[in-house]
Amino acid sequence: MNKEALSIFSEIAQKLLQAERENGVIKPISTEALFEKLDLNLSPEACSDSDWKQSITNLVLQTPRTSTKKFFNQLFGGRNTYATIGDLLAVLLNNSLYTYKVGGAMIGVEKVLIREISHLLGYDPETSDGLTVPGGSMCNMMAMIMARDFRNSEIPQTGVQTKMIYYTSEDSHYSIPKNASFIGIGRNQIRLIPTNRQGVMDTETLQEIIEKDLAENMIPTMINATAGTTVLGAFDPISTCADIAEKYGVWLHVDGAYCGAVLYSNKYKHLIDGVHRADSFCFNAHKMLNAPISCSIFLAKEDKMLYQSFNNEANYLYQTHDDYFNPGKISMQCGRRNDALKLWTLWKAIGTNGLGKMIDHQFALAKHARSYIESHPDYILYSFENSISVCFNYKNIPANELCNQLYQEGLLMVGYGDFRGEQFVRLVTVNAGNEVEDIEAFFNIIETMF
Ligand SMILES: *Cc1c(COP(=O)(O)O)cnc(C)c1O
Repeated sequence: MNKEALSIFSEIAQKLLQAERENGVIKPISTEALFEKLDLNLSPEACSDSDWKQSITNLVLQTPRTSTKKFFNQLFGGRNTYATIGDLLAVLLNNSLYTYKVGGAMIGVEKVLIREISHLLGYDPETSDGLTVPGGSMCNMMAMIMARDFRNSEIPQTGVQTKMIYYTSEDSHYSIPKNASFIGIGRNQIRLIPTNRQGVMDTETLQEIIEKDLAENMIPTMINATAGTTVLGAFDPISTCADIAEKYGVWLHVDGAYCGAVLYSNKYKHLIDGVHRADSFCFNAHKMLNAPISCSIFLAKEDKMLYQSFNNEANYLYQTHDDYFNPGKISMQCGRRNDALKLWTLWKAIGTNGLGKMIDHQFALAKHARSYIESHPDYILYSFENSISVCFNYKNIPANELCNQLYQEGLLMVGYGDFRGEQFVRLVTVNAGNEVEDIEAFFNIIETMF
Protein backbone atom coordinates (compact mmCIF):
# COMPACT_ATOMS: atom_id res chain seq x y z
CA MET A 1 0.00 0.00 0.00
CA ASN A 2 1.50 3.30 -1.02
CA LYS A 3 0.44 6.82 -1.84
CA GLU A 4 -0.55 5.88 -5.35
CA ALA A 5 -2.78 3.07 -4.09
CA LEU A 6 -4.50 5.47 -1.72
CA SER A 7 -5.12 7.90 -4.51
CA ILE A 8 -6.67 5.16 -6.68
CA PHE A 9 -8.96 4.33 -3.78
CA SER A 10 -9.83 7.96 -3.29
CA GLU A 11 -10.53 8.45 -6.99
CA ILE A 12 -12.94 5.49 -7.13
CA ALA A 13 -14.59 6.48 -3.84
CA GLN A 14 -15.19 10.02 -5.10
CA LYS A 15 -16.76 8.71 -8.29
CA LEU A 16 -19.10 6.59 -6.20
CA LEU A 17 -20.07 9.47 -3.91
CA GLN A 18 -20.70 11.70 -6.93
CA ALA A 19 -22.85 9.00 -8.56
CA GLU A 20 -24.81 8.51 -5.34
CA ARG A 21 -25.55 12.24 -5.23
CA GLU A 22 -26.82 12.16 -8.80
CA ASN A 23 -28.81 8.93 -8.47
CA GLY A 24 -29.78 7.47 -5.13
CA VAL A 25 -30.87 4.25 -6.82
CA ILE A 26 -29.56 2.42 -9.89
CA LYS A 27 -31.65 0.45 -12.33
CA PRO A 28 -31.15 -3.18 -11.43
CA ILE A 29 -29.19 -5.53 -13.68
CA SER A 30 -31.13 -8.71 -14.35
CA THR A 31 -29.42 -11.90 -13.29
CA GLU A 32 -29.50 -13.06 -16.94
CA ALA A 33 -27.56 -10.01 -18.08
CA LEU A 34 -25.19 -9.80 -15.12
CA PHE A 35 -22.23 -11.72 -16.53
CA GLU A 36 -22.63 -10.15 -19.99
CA LYS A 37 -23.00 -6.60 -18.88
CA LEU A 38 -20.21 -6.41 -16.34
CA ASP A 39 -16.63 -7.48 -16.75
CA LEU A 40 -16.63 -10.00 -13.91
CA ASN A 41 -14.54 -12.60 -15.70
CA LEU A 42 -11.29 -13.80 -14.22
CA SER A 43 -8.53 -15.10 -16.46
CA PRO A 44 -5.10 -16.72 -16.17
CA GLU A 45 -3.43 -13.55 -17.43
CA ALA A 46 -2.89 -10.36 -15.47
CA CYS A 47 -4.76 -7.31 -16.70
CA SER A 48 -3.27 -3.87 -17.19
CA ASP A 49 -3.49 -1.44 -14.30
CA SER A 50 -5.80 0.80 -16.26
CA ASP A 51 -8.15 -2.05 -17.21
CA TRP A 52 -8.13 -3.21 -13.62
CA LYS A 53 -9.10 0.23 -12.38
CA GLN A 54 -11.77 0.58 -15.04
CA SER A 55 -13.33 -2.81 -14.20
CA ILE A 56 -13.44 -2.02 -10.52
CA THR A 57 -14.89 1.43 -11.09
CA ASN A 58 -17.65 0.04 -13.31
CA LEU A 59 -18.41 -2.66 -10.80
CA VAL A 60 -18.65 -0.18 -7.93
CA LEU A 61 -20.91 2.12 -9.92
CA GLN A 62 -23.21 -0.75 -10.92
CA THR A 63 -23.72 -2.06 -7.38
CA PRO A 64 -26.95 -1.35 -5.46
CA ARG A 65 -26.63 1.85 -3.42
CA THR A 66 -27.51 1.12 0.16
CA SER A 67 -26.34 4.31 1.81
CA THR A 68 -28.41 6.94 0.02
CA LYS A 69 -31.60 8.72 1.01
CA LYS A 70 -33.58 6.42 -1.26
CA PHE A 71 -32.62 3.14 0.33
CA PHE A 72 -35.27 1.94 2.79
CA ASN A 73 -35.07 -1.70 1.94
CA GLN A 74 -34.04 -3.48 5.08
CA LEU A 75 -33.07 -2.71 8.60
CA PHE A 76 -29.90 -0.83 7.78
CA GLY A 77 -29.10 2.32 5.85
CA GLY A 78 -27.12 5.53 5.83
CA ARG A 79 -23.39 5.93 5.98
CA ASN A 80 -22.14 7.40 9.19
CA THR A 81 -18.90 9.21 8.37
CA TYR A 82 -17.20 8.65 11.72
CA ALA A 83 -17.96 4.95 11.72
CA THR A 84 -16.91 4.57 8.08
CA ILE A 85 -13.52 6.16 8.75
CA GLY A 86 -13.07 3.77 11.66
CA ASP A 87 -13.88 0.76 9.51
CA LEU A 88 -11.57 1.84 6.69
CA LEU A 89 -8.75 2.16 9.21
CA ALA A 90 -9.56 -1.27 10.63
CA VAL A 91 -8.97 -2.72 7.15
CA LEU A 92 -5.64 -0.93 6.85
CA LEU A 93 -4.52 -2.01 10.31
CA ASN A 94 -5.77 -5.59 9.79
CA ASN A 95 -5.50 -6.76 13.39
CA SER A 96 -7.15 -9.95 14.48
CA LEU A 97 -8.98 -9.51 17.75
CA TYR A 98 -8.09 -12.86 19.31
CA THR A 99 -5.07 -11.93 21.39
CA TYR A 100 -3.68 -8.83 23.02
CA LYS A 101 -0.35 -9.51 21.40
CA VAL A 102 -1.84 -9.06 17.93
CA GLY A 103 -4.78 -6.75 18.70
CA GLY A 104 -3.13 -4.53 21.34
CA ALA A 105 -4.84 -1.18 21.63
CA MET A 106 -7.78 -2.48 19.58
CA ILE A 107 -8.55 -5.01 22.33
CA GLY A 108 -8.76 -1.98 24.62
CA VAL A 109 -11.19 -0.35 22.19
CA GLU A 110 -13.45 -3.40 22.26
CA LYS A 111 -13.25 -3.72 26.04
CA VAL A 112 -14.20 -0.07 26.53
CA LEU A 113 -17.25 -0.54 24.30
CA ILE A 114 -18.32 -3.58 26.29
CA ARG A 115 -17.81 -1.87 29.65
CA GLU A 116 -19.74 1.24 28.62
CA ILE A 117 -22.61 -0.81 27.18
CA SER A 118 -22.66 -3.00 30.32
CA HIS A 119 -23.00 0.14 32.33
CA LEU A 120 -25.88 1.43 30.18
CA LEU A 121 -27.64 -1.94 30.42
CA GLY A 122 -27.32 -2.03 34.19
CA TYR A 123 -24.95 -5.04 34.17
CA ASP A 124 -22.02 -5.07 36.57
CA PRO A 125 -19.01 -4.19 34.37
CA GLU A 126 -16.77 -6.18 36.76
CA THR A 127 -18.49 -9.50 36.15
CA SER A 128 -20.01 -9.07 32.69
CA ASP A 129 -18.11 -9.34 29.44
CA GLY A 130 -18.74 -9.47 25.73
CA LEU A 131 -17.36 -8.89 22.29
CA THR A 132 -18.13 -7.91 18.72
CA VAL A 133 -19.59 -10.75 16.68
CA PRO A 134 -20.18 -11.12 12.91
CA GLY A 135 -23.92 -10.44 12.93
CA GLY A 136 -27.02 -10.69 15.08
CA SER A 137 -27.74 -14.24 13.95
CA MET A 138 -24.36 -15.31 15.33
CA CYS A 139 -25.03 -13.40 18.56
CA ASN A 140 -28.26 -15.36 18.93
CA MET A 141 -26.35 -18.57 18.31
CA MET A 142 -23.86 -17.70 21.05
CA ALA A 143 -26.74 -17.09 23.46
CA MET A 144 -28.39 -20.38 22.49
CA ILE A 145 -25.16 -22.30 23.06
CA MET A 146 -24.60 -20.63 26.43
CA ALA A 147 -28.19 -21.38 27.49
CA ARG A 148 -27.70 -25.03 26.55
CA ASP A 149 -24.46 -25.29 28.53
CA PHE A 150 -25.95 -23.36 31.46
CA ARG A 151 -28.73 -25.92 31.72
CA ASN A 152 -26.27 -28.78 31.49
CA SER A 153 -22.57 -28.08 31.75
CA GLU A 154 -21.72 -31.59 30.50
CA ILE A 155 -23.05 -30.89 27.05
CA PRO A 156 -19.86 -29.39 25.60
CA GLN A 157 -18.33 -32.84 26.22
CA THR A 158 -21.22 -35.25 25.86
CA GLY A 159 -23.45 -33.56 23.29
CA VAL A 160 -27.20 -33.03 23.62
CA GLN A 161 -29.04 -36.13 24.79
CA THR A 162 -32.36 -34.73 25.99
CA LYS A 163 -35.14 -32.59 24.58
CA MET A 164 -34.11 -29.04 25.44
CA ILE A 165 -36.77 -26.48 24.65
CA TYR A 166 -36.30 -22.88 23.49
CA TYR A 167 -39.09 -20.30 23.55
CA THR A 168 -39.33 -17.38 21.17
CA SER A 169 -42.20 -15.41 19.64
CA GLU A 170 -43.67 -16.33 16.30
CA ASP A 171 -42.50 -12.93 15.06
CA SER A 172 -38.91 -13.35 16.19
CA HIS A 173 -35.97 -13.67 13.81
CA TYR A 174 -35.51 -16.82 11.72
CA SER A 175 -32.01 -17.31 13.10
CA ILE A 176 -33.49 -18.89 16.25
CA PRO A 177 -34.84 -22.08 14.58
CA LYS A 178 -31.95 -22.07 12.12
CA ASN A 179 -29.39 -21.98 14.93
CA ALA A 180 -31.30 -24.74 16.75
CA SER A 181 -30.48 -27.03 13.86
CA PHE A 182 -26.77 -26.11 14.04
CA ILE A 183 -26.27 -26.60 17.77
CA GLY A 184 -27.81 -30.02 18.24
CA ILE A 185 -31.09 -28.74 19.71
CA GLY A 186 -33.19 -29.34 16.60
CA ARG A 187 -35.84 -27.14 15.06
CA ASN A 188 -38.63 -29.21 16.63
CA GLN A 189 -37.54 -28.01 20.03
CA ILE A 190 -38.30 -24.38 19.21
CA ARG A 191 -41.65 -23.23 20.58
CA LEU A 192 -43.06 -20.30 18.63
CA ILE A 193 -45.13 -18.35 21.14
CA PRO A 194 -48.11 -16.43 19.72
CA THR A 195 -48.06 -12.64 19.62
CA ASN A 196 -50.78 -10.06 20.05
CA ARG A 197 -52.05 -7.67 17.36
CA GLN A 198 -49.00 -5.49 17.82
CA GLY A 199 -46.55 -8.36 17.41
CA VAL A 200 -45.69 -8.61 21.12
CA MET A 201 -45.15 -12.05 22.67
CA ASP A 202 -48.05 -13.33 24.77
CA THR A 203 -46.32 -14.22 28.03
CA GLU A 204 -49.33 -16.01 29.53
CA THR A 205 -49.24 -18.53 26.72
CA LEU A 206 -45.46 -18.71 27.13
CA GLN A 207 -45.91 -19.82 30.71
CA GLU A 208 -48.61 -22.36 29.81
CA ILE A 209 -46.41 -23.91 27.15
CA ILE A 210 -43.47 -24.15 29.56
CA GLU A 211 -45.73 -25.96 32.07
CA LYS A 212 -46.88 -28.33 29.38
CA ASP A 213 -43.29 -29.11 28.36
CA LEU A 214 -42.35 -29.75 31.98
CA ALA A 215 -45.28 -32.12 32.36
CA GLU A 216 -43.89 -34.04 29.38
CA ASN A 217 -40.40 -34.19 30.86
CA MET A 218 -38.89 -31.78 28.40
CA ILE A 219 -36.21 -29.37 29.58
CA PRO A 220 -37.05 -25.67 29.24
CA THR A 221 -33.73 -24.01 28.40
CA MET A 222 -34.04 -20.50 27.02
CA ILE A 223 -36.49 -17.68 26.49
CA ASN A 224 -35.65 -15.27 23.70
CA ALA A 225 -37.24 -11.84 24.02
CA THR A 226 -37.00 -9.68 20.92
CA ALA A 227 -36.33 -5.94 21.20
CA GLY A 228 -37.61 -4.80 17.82
CA THR A 229 -39.13 -7.65 15.83
CA THR A 230 -37.94 -7.85 12.26
CA VAL A 231 -41.23 -6.95 10.55
CA LEU A 232 -43.20 -4.71 12.94
CA GLY A 233 -40.43 -3.54 15.26
CA ALA A 234 -42.32 -4.75 18.35
CA PHE A 235 -40.73 -5.05 21.81
CA ASP A 236 -41.42 -8.13 23.94
CA PRO A 237 -41.92 -7.42 27.69
CA ILE A 238 -38.48 -8.19 29.11
CA SER A 239 -39.40 -7.88 32.80
CA THR A 240 -42.22 -10.40 32.55
CA CYS A 241 -39.97 -12.73 30.56
CA ALA A 242 -37.32 -12.32 33.29
CA ASP A 243 -39.86 -13.32 35.99
CA ILE A 244 -40.72 -16.45 34.04
CA ALA A 245 -37.08 -17.24 33.27
CA GLU A 246 -36.22 -16.96 36.97
CA LYS A 247 -39.14 -19.10 38.03
CA TYR A 248 -38.10 -21.96 35.75
CA GLY A 249 -34.34 -21.46 35.93
CA VAL A 250 -33.92 -20.87 32.20
CA TRP A 251 -31.63 -18.52 30.34
CA LEU A 252 -33.08 -15.21 29.16
CA HIS A 253 -31.62 -13.71 26.00
CA VAL A 254 -32.68 -10.37 24.55
CA ASP A 255 -32.32 -10.23 20.78
CA GLY A 256 -31.95 -6.50 20.27
CA ALA A 257 -30.30 -6.89 16.86
CA TYR A 258 -32.74 -4.45 15.31
CA CYS A 259 -33.70 -2.00 18.07
CA GLY A 260 -31.60 -2.85 21.12
CA ALA A 261 -29.70 0.40 20.47
CA VAL A 262 -32.58 2.21 22.21
CA LEU A 263 -30.35 1.67 25.23
CA TYR A 264 -28.63 4.92 24.22
CA SER A 265 -31.81 7.00 24.33
CA ASN A 266 -33.19 8.42 27.56
CA LYS A 267 -36.51 8.76 25.80
CA TYR A 268 -36.82 5.20 24.47
CA LYS A 269 -34.74 2.98 26.75
CA HIS A 270 -37.93 2.21 28.69
CA LEU A 271 -38.76 -0.10 25.76
CA ILE A 272 -36.12 -2.50 27.10
CA ASP A 273 -36.93 -2.09 30.79
CA GLY A 274 -35.75 -5.12 32.72
CA VAL A 275 -32.83 -5.80 30.35
CA HIS A 276 -30.42 -5.78 33.32
CA ARG A 277 -32.02 -9.09 34.32
CA ALA A 278 -31.29 -10.79 30.98
CA ASP A 279 -28.44 -13.31 30.92
CA SER A 280 -27.35 -12.09 27.50
CA PHE A 281 -28.12 -9.25 25.14
CA CYS A 282 -27.14 -8.19 21.66
CA PHE A 283 -27.65 -5.32 19.28
CA ASN A 284 -26.51 -4.45 15.77
CA ALA A 285 -24.72 -1.12 15.50
CA HIS A 286 -25.03 -1.61 11.73
CA LYS A 287 -28.77 -1.14 12.04
CA MET A 288 -29.87 1.81 14.22
CA LEU A 289 -26.39 3.28 14.63
CA ASN A 290 -25.70 3.29 10.88
CA ALA A 291 -22.23 1.78 11.23
CA PRO A 292 -20.94 -0.24 8.25
CA ILE A 293 -21.93 -3.94 8.20
CA SER A 294 -21.27 -5.82 10.29
CA CYS A 295 -21.06 -4.37 13.76
CA SER A 296 -22.85 -6.57 16.28
CA ILE A 297 -22.28 -6.48 19.99
CA PHE A 298 -22.90 -9.41 22.31
CA LEU A 299 -22.88 -9.16 26.11
CA ALA A 300 -23.22 -11.77 28.81
CA LYS A 301 -24.09 -10.87 32.38
CA GLU A 302 -21.63 -13.44 33.75
CA ASP A 303 -18.27 -13.62 32.01
CA LYS A 304 -17.69 -17.15 33.30
CA MET A 305 -20.54 -18.42 31.15
CA LEU A 306 -18.69 -17.19 28.05
CA TYR A 307 -15.62 -19.20 29.07
CA GLN A 308 -17.74 -22.26 29.82
CA SER A 309 -19.06 -22.35 26.27
CA PHE A 310 -16.28 -20.90 24.13
CA ASN A 311 -12.90 -21.37 25.77
CA ASN A 312 -10.52 -23.86 24.25
CA GLU A 313 -6.82 -24.26 24.99
CA ALA A 314 -4.48 -23.48 22.09
CA ASN A 315 -0.81 -23.16 22.96
CA TYR A 316 0.09 -22.00 19.51
CA LEU A 317 -2.24 -19.01 19.93
CA TYR A 318 -2.40 -17.89 23.55
CA GLN A 319 1.16 -17.11 24.55
CA THR A 320 0.95 -13.85 26.46
CA HIS A 321 -1.34 -11.86 28.79
CA ASP A 322 -4.46 -12.55 30.88
CA ASP A 323 -7.54 -14.27 29.50
CA TYR A 324 -9.49 -11.02 29.76
CA PHE A 325 -7.22 -9.43 27.15
CA ASN A 326 -7.29 -12.50 24.88
CA PRO A 327 -10.91 -12.46 23.67
CA GLY A 328 -10.30 -15.43 21.37
CA LYS A 329 -11.13 -17.36 24.54
CA ILE A 330 -14.73 -16.16 24.50
CA SER A 331 -15.40 -16.11 20.75
CA MET A 332 -16.73 -18.65 18.28
CA GLN A 333 -14.08 -17.72 15.73
CA CYS A 334 -10.33 -17.96 15.68
CA GLY A 335 -9.22 -15.03 13.51
CA ARG A 336 -11.61 -12.19 14.25
CA ARG A 337 -12.13 -9.01 12.26
CA ASN A 338 -11.92 -5.70 14.09
CA ASP A 339 -15.58 -4.66 14.13
CA ALA A 340 -15.07 -2.65 17.30
CA LEU A 341 -13.18 0.34 15.95
CA LYS A 342 -16.05 1.73 13.83
CA LEU A 343 -18.42 1.94 16.80
CA TRP A 344 -15.69 3.48 18.94
CA THR A 345 -14.82 6.18 16.35
CA LEU A 346 -18.52 7.04 16.09
CA TRP A 347 -19.15 7.03 19.84
CA LYS A 348 -15.97 9.06 20.48
CA ALA A 349 -17.15 11.68 17.98
CA ILE A 350 -20.72 12.25 19.10
CA GLY A 351 -20.78 10.89 22.62
CA THR A 352 -23.44 8.78 24.28
CA ASN A 353 -25.88 11.68 23.99
CA GLY A 354 -25.27 11.95 20.26
CA LEU A 355 -26.04 8.25 19.80
CA GLY A 356 -29.25 8.80 21.78
CA LYS A 357 -30.17 11.66 19.47
CA MET A 358 -29.78 9.41 16.43
CA ILE A 359 -32.27 6.99 17.97
CA ASP A 360 -34.71 9.75 18.91
CA HIS A 361 -34.48 11.16 15.39
CA GLN A 362 -35.35 7.79 13.84
CA PHE A 363 -38.44 7.49 16.02
CA ALA A 364 -39.40 11.08 15.14
CA LEU A 365 -39.09 10.28 11.41
CA ALA A 366 -41.28 7.20 11.88
CA LYS A 367 -43.85 9.25 13.73
CA HIS A 368 -43.88 11.75 10.92
CA ALA A 369 -44.32 8.98 8.37
CA ARG A 370 -47.22 7.49 10.34
CA SER A 371 -49.01 10.80 10.58
CA TYR A 372 -48.45 11.42 6.86
CA ILE A 373 -50.07 8.05 6.12
CA GLU A 374 -52.96 8.69 8.50
CA SER A 375 -53.74 12.05 6.96
CA HIS A 376 -53.73 10.76 3.36
CA PRO A 377 -56.82 8.68 2.50
CA ASP A 378 -55.05 6.60 -0.19
CA TYR A 379 -52.98 4.87 2.49
CA ILE A 380 -53.73 2.26 5.16
CA LEU A 381 -51.42 2.13 8.19
CA TYR A 382 -50.50 -1.14 9.93
CA SER A 383 -47.91 -0.05 12.46
CA PHE A 384 -47.97 1.30 15.94
CA GLU A 385 -46.20 3.83 18.10
CA ASN A 386 -42.67 3.17 19.32
CA SER A 387 -41.54 1.48 16.14
CA ILE A 388 -39.32 2.68 13.33
CA SER A 389 -40.87 0.15 10.91
CA VAL A 390 -43.72 1.97 9.23
CA CYS A 391 -45.95 -0.54 7.49
CA PHE A 392 -48.64 0.54 5.05
CA ASN A 393 -50.48 -0.12 1.83
CA TYR A 394 -51.26 2.37 -0.93
CA LYS A 395 -54.39 2.40 -3.10
CA ASN A 396 -54.86 -1.34 -2.62
CA ILE A 397 -51.84 -2.00 -4.85
CA PRO A 398 -50.32 -5.33 -3.76
CA ALA A 399 -47.21 -4.45 -1.74
CA ASN A 400 -44.94 -6.81 -3.67
CA GLU A 401 -45.96 -5.21 -6.98
CA LEU A 402 -45.48 -1.70 -5.67
CA CYS A 403 -42.02 -2.44 -4.25
CA ASN A 404 -40.94 -4.38 -7.30
CA GLN A 405 -41.95 -1.67 -9.73
CA LEU A 406 -40.13 1.02 -7.75
CA TYR A 407 -37.05 -1.22 -7.82
CA GLN A 408 -37.24 -2.06 -11.52
CA GLU A 409 -37.65 1.60 -12.45
CA GLY A 410 -34.71 2.58 -10.27
CA LEU A 411 -36.78 4.97 -8.17
CA LEU A 412 -36.65 3.63 -4.62
CA MET A 413 -35.45 0.61 -2.68
CA VAL A 414 -38.12 -0.46 -0.23
CA GLY A 415 -39.31 -3.89 0.86
CA TYR A 416 -42.49 -5.52 2.04
CA GLY A 417 -43.48 -7.70 4.96
CA ASP A 418 -46.27 -9.94 6.17
CA PHE A 419 -48.22 -10.03 9.39
CA ARG A 420 -51.30 -12.15 10.02
CA GLY A 421 -51.92 -12.81 6.34
CA GLU A 422 -51.68 -9.14 5.42
CA GLN A 423 -48.87 -7.98 3.16
CA PHE A 424 -47.65 -4.38 3.33
CA VAL A 425 -44.86 -2.05 2.35
CA ARG A 426 -42.33 -1.61 5.14
CA LEU A 427 -40.66 1.78 5.31
CA VAL A 428 -37.84 1.67 7.85
CA THR A 429 -36.65 5.05 9.12
CA VAL A 430 -33.28 3.70 10.21
CA ASN A 431 -31.12 6.15 8.27
CA ALA A 432 -30.42 8.86 10.85
CA GLY A 433 -29.05 11.04 8.04
CA ASN A 434 -32.56 11.41 6.62
CA GLU A 435 -34.80 14.36 7.37
CA VAL A 436 -38.55 14.86 7.26
CA GLU A 437 -38.22 16.08 3.63
CA ASP A 438 -36.63 12.77 2.64
CA ILE A 439 -39.57 10.88 4.11
CA GLU A 440 -42.00 13.11 2.24
CA ALA A 441 -39.96 12.63 -0.94
CA PHE A 442 -40.41 8.89 -0.43
CA PHE A 443 -44.20 9.24 -0.43
CA ASN A 444 -44.10 11.66 -3.34
CA ILE A 445 -42.20 9.15 -5.47
CA ILE A 446 -44.89 6.54 -4.79
CA GLU A 447 -47.69 8.99 -5.54
CA THR A 448 -46.07 10.08 -8.80
CA MET A 449 -45.49 6.52 -9.93
CA PHE A 450 -48.96 5.18 -9.14
C1 LIG B 1 -31.44 -8.28 11.72
C2 LIG B 1 -31.88 -9.14 12.83
C3 LIG B 1 -31.13 -10.26 13.21
C4 LIG B 1 -29.97 -10.76 12.41
O1 LIG B 1 -28.88 -9.92 12.42
P1 LIG B 1 -27.76 -10.13 11.30
O2 LIG B 1 -26.71 -9.15 11.71
O3 LIG B 1 -28.42 -9.80 9.99
O4 LIG B 1 -27.32 -11.54 11.37
C5 LIG B 1 -31.52 -10.95 14.35
N1 LIG B 1 -32.61 -10.58 15.03
C6 LIG B 1 -33.37 -9.53 14.67
C7 LIG B 1 -34.58 -9.18 15.50
C8 LIG B 1 -33.05 -8.79 13.54
O5 LIG B 1 -33.82 -7.77 13.17
